Amino acid sequence: MLLRALALAVVFALGGAGNALAEPGPTWRPAPESAARPSVTEPAEGWFTAPGLYADVHGEWADRATVTRLANHAATSVPALAKRLGLRPGATMDVYITPSEAAFHELQPGRTPDWADGTAWPSWSLIFLKSPSIRSGTATSLETVLDHELVHVLLGQAFGGRPVPRWLQEGMAQFYSGEASWERSIALAKNDFGLAPLPLGTITTGFPPDALRAQLAYAQSADFIAWIAGRNGEGALRTLVSELATGAKVNDAIRACTGLSLDEANDAWLGSVPSASALYRWATNSQLHWAIGAGFLGLAAWRRTQAGKVKLARWEAEEAARTAELFRQAELRAEAARNGTEGFWAMAALAPPRPRRVVIDSSAQRAT
Ligand SMILES: [Zn+2]
Repeated sequence: MLLRALALAVVFALGGAGNALAEPGPTWRPAPESAARPSVTEPAEGWFTAPGLYADVHGEWADRATVTRLANHAATSVPALAKRLGLRPGATMDVYITPSEAAFHELQPGRTPDWADGTAWPSWSLIFLKSPSIRSGTATSLETVLDHELVHVLLGQAFGGRPVPRWLQEGMAQFYSGEASWERSIALAKNDFGLAPLPLGTITTGFPPDALRAQLAYAQSADFIAWIAGRNGEGALRTLVSELATGAKVNDAIRACTGLSLDEANDAWLGSVPSASALYRWATNSQLHWAIGAGFLGLAAWRRTQAGKVKLARWEAEEAARTAELFRQAELRAEAARNGTEGFWAMAALAPPRPRRVVIDSSAQRAT
């Protein structure tokens, strides 16, 4: 995990985030829509719609700038995400920017949790987001939320009537939208959840109903997907998706992309999560932070030389960035503790991810 994480900043510095787009493209077509798309009630003044090849974005006229911005984003993001997933975009999606909390819930074709920030209905290629006017200024960017939901729809389109393992849905959505992986990794490493890890086999058909375990399930899913990508490359994720979408059992699909059984992969991933005691030391010794960071960067460089593999170098660079961010966050919190503005454990432990997008039922229709 350290090396995998040590590698991340370098990726961004080297512009590596786009490298995956150069890798092999779509291999097969998604399933057709499984049912007629439900209609969405229009506001009195009608929707302001920005049509697109892959997604039509709708919102109230007051949100037309946001609608246009997200339509432009979807125009490039849908094909880019599809390519990284090894899929082809299916039916044109409809993305609704809802003007109020009430509208967010009322316009959807089914029940949604109060705290949901975005929802996707993959079998109908429908996505609902919230207008910036009803979101916090510090909330995750709408582009990131949209990418998260786009991944849900793309996977749902590809799987057709087959259920998508929940850890795959949420892991892929978080991994490809670039959401809060630092915070989640730190939360996992420090065991902020205070819970034993959930075996992957227990988060395949759904996530736990209670919020804390659901947060842990999100964090584990994201980190497990990142672990596969770091260990075997993004091509392994495409293998995983295509195997599962064409009916392979989870154990066989995991073996096809990692060479390990589900249980072996689960154990190997768990072994990659850095220990809380290591993070504690980083948080209490800033000089040690940079010494460790420099050491890992040196080791990463050595491994790059030894392996001579561009992919390995990229992921080591990404690992470096993640570790550097761990150090930076730990230092900020240690400083706050010295100033008496925060308790140590509060500062050492990043808050677990907020219970946003936690799935509250086992309906295969909706993902959040
Ligand atoms: Zn989700």
